[in-house]
Amino acid sequence: MADESATRAAHRGPADGPTTPGGTAEAACAARHRPVGAAVPRWAPGDHILWRYRENGGARIHICRPVTVVQDTDDLLAVWMAPGTPCVKPVLADGTPVHAEPLTSRYTKPRAVRRGRWTGAGMVKLAQPGRPWSVWLFWEPGWRFKNWYVNLEEPLARWPGGVDSEDHFLDISVRPDRSWRWLDEDEFAAAQRAGLMDPAKARAVRRAGREAVETILAWEKPFSDDWPEWRPDPRWTIPALPDDWDHTPAPRSSHQSP
Ligand SMILES: [Mg+2]
Repeated sequence: MADESATRAAHRGPADGPTTPGGTAEAACAARHRPVGAAVPRWAPGDHILWRYRENGGARIHICRPVTVVQDTDDLLAVWMAPGTPCVKPVLADGTPVHAEPLTSRYTKPRAVRRGRWTGAGMVKLAQPGRPWSVWLFWEPGWRFKNWYVNLEEPLARWPGGVDSEDHFLDISVRPDRSWRWLDEDEFAAAQRAGLMDPAKARAVRRAGREAVETILAWEKPFSDDWPEWRPDPRWTIPALPDDWDHTPAPRSSHQSP
């Protein structure tokens, strides 16, 4: 269906295209290089941070999305990904887009990363601290709300410049009429066959997905909140992609949420 494919296309990341690197504000740069280990302070609405994912089966960052903080409180981190944002996505080493590669070799061939820009409408990402998923909202151009997208992932780890996670392949789509369905079961299976996820981990991911479904069926936060009506502050600018977007802040265990 059109909206599903658009959502999935959006999830795949930015379109290919030239970008201008850098443009990092001095303050943001200093914040990213603040010594880690201490608790990461709350961000203020309007702050620019990086929402990143590590590659599966490795330590390198392969997705980096500069976003604007909407809310950062004890119970929720909400960010806005503006249309046209410069970001980083994985590709096959020969430049083939990941989703153009057949499933049989998608997770076994060497990879590289590519800069691009986020296309289409913007996206809101919502994360409740400690939960192994985040909830993304998609709109059509003109702000017609399309759907929520539950991205199963490692709970976000905070560092001074943003948050890091690892994607768990399996996803859930939730429509405005509250119907839901699993997405990317084929990728979830292929990743297991490729050895990127062992059986115990896969069971834990499926269990987390069932927990997410429980929150959908009970229509709990964030679905029950009025995020579909939320709009970005028109004064906000598009965040830059810093040159050191792949800066590794700290071992995973030492930069958990305060
Ligand atoms: Mg996912």
